[in-house]
Amino acid sequence: MSYVSDLMTAVEKRNTNEPEFIQAVKEVLESIEPVLDRHPEYKDAGIAERIVEPERQIIFRIPWQDDTGKINVNRGFRVEFNSAIGPYKGGIRFHPSVYLGIIKFLGFEQIFKNALTGIPMGGGKGGSDFDPKGKSDAEVMRFCMSFMTELFRHLGANTDVPAGDIGVGGREIGYMFGTFKKITNRFEGVLTGKGLTWGGSLVRTQATGYGCVYFVQEMLKTIGESYKDKTAVVSGSGNVAIYTVQKLYQLGAKPVAMSDSNGYIHDPDGINLDTVRQIKEVKRGRIKEYIDIHKKAKYEDNWTNIWKIKCDVAFPSATQNEIDKASAEALVSNGCKAVGEGANMPSTPEAVKVFLDNKVLFGPAKAANAGGVATSGLEMSQNAAFTSWSFDEVDKKLYNIMINIHEAAKKAAETYGTPGNYVNGANIAGFEKVAKAMFDQGLFG
Ligand code: NDP
Repeated sequence: MSYVSDLMTAVEKRNTNEPEFIQAVKEVLESIEPVLDRHPEYKDAGIAERIVEPERQIIFRIPWQDDTGKINVNRGFRVEFNSAIGPYKGGIRFHPSVYLGIIKFLGFEQIFKNALTGIPMGGGKGGSDFDPKGKSDAEVMRFCMSFMTELFRHLGANTDVPAGDIGVGGREIGYMFGTFKKITNRFEGVLTGKGLTWGGSLVRTQATGYGCVYFVQEMLKTIGESYKDKTAVVSGSGNVAIYTVQKLYQLGAKPVAMSDSNGYIHDPDGINLDTVRQIKEVKRGRIKEYIDIHKKAKYEDNWTNIWKIKCDVAFPSATQNEIDKASAEALVSNGCKAVGEGANMPSTPEAVKVFLDNKVLFGPAKAANAGGVATSGLEMSQNAAFTSWSFDEVDKKLYNIMINIHEAAKKAAETYGTPGNYVNGANIAGFEKVAKAMFDQGLFG
């Protein structure tokens, strides 16, 4: 048994019934094994043993009243995973599937992603099993207020700074920020993704999607290609998916399909993004409504079939494990050249193997979707300096950060003997930075 497989056995034993967390840890430990072999001092200092255990996990009750007067109780989580290089930073997810294992997998990935951005941010994640779908604005507000009534005591601009994720956008951040301010009597950058008139940053809304498209562009350049005339499939129709589609159009590609948790639409003429935004952002409706307006488009209930559509570039931007082995094989046999993970861990380990074995340019989430948190970091910088930058200024910074992340991942993959493997590259480049900080800071680093 090797050092890493012993550790993996211990992780599995300690975190039973948390398959997503175990999946995320396994991938990272396998990638960093050669780094640990080169740095016996990291083994002696127990860096790997410490990095897989959250510094702090908070689980709390969220009572709230719905519009009929009924009392409901949800469960809230905040996992403060690692603060070696900065305050805990990571989004909040509201989705019925949320439980501790999901928040831990997301918080763990966040450590390495945040390190890759080059901005000093530690890793954390939070959320609740609350389902915002079908709830009135008043219900969402009462829920967010109750959620923050517990969470506020753990937050601070230099302690822990949450943001949005699935089910948490500008509306929810607003309700949470208002509650934080009311309880603490402090106006501080304690959440990112804020409104533009009260501390938010331009480009934050677009950042994850834009950043992912920039990252894939860098990968395409390595084979002498661009987005020009490329067909794209983008799953999801939320924050990440919408701005992925917008940037793809700006750079010359044609996105032809999008989805939600009920089904997917395929519009061979190219997705009309205005229609999608009207349905999803304004009406909070279902993607199916698209075909009422665009008669040539098709809708199918089984949304995972979206990966059977022929495309040159694919952007899974909905949820974890949405591309399995069969979907990856379908993409490969249809000639897909590049995949950019907008969502977190959207490809199963078997799917990742299919992509790597077939030399598909594969941009793993930690690297490809890091533009969101990077721009959150830029929002924190603007808040700290009581200033705000123009759209172009922030977009340029985001673009450069994505180029740097691509370069760092590419270089680390080459240094450790797996050129072109961005999974290894991103894990290693992120780990090296955090491991050094933990080592320098001693046992409590
Ligand atoms: P949104 O809530 O805005 O949108 C999520 C989209 O994915 C919706 O279309 C939703 O459909 C669909 N979806 C969610 N869960 C499922 C599911 N279990 N099965 C099928 N479809 C699903 O979330 P975001 O766009 O913010 O997040 C999408 C992904 O990107 C997540 O993995 C998130 O962690 C990741 N991410 C987000 C960042 C951000 O800045 N927002 C930053 C980095 C990563 P429906 O409306 O039907 O639920």
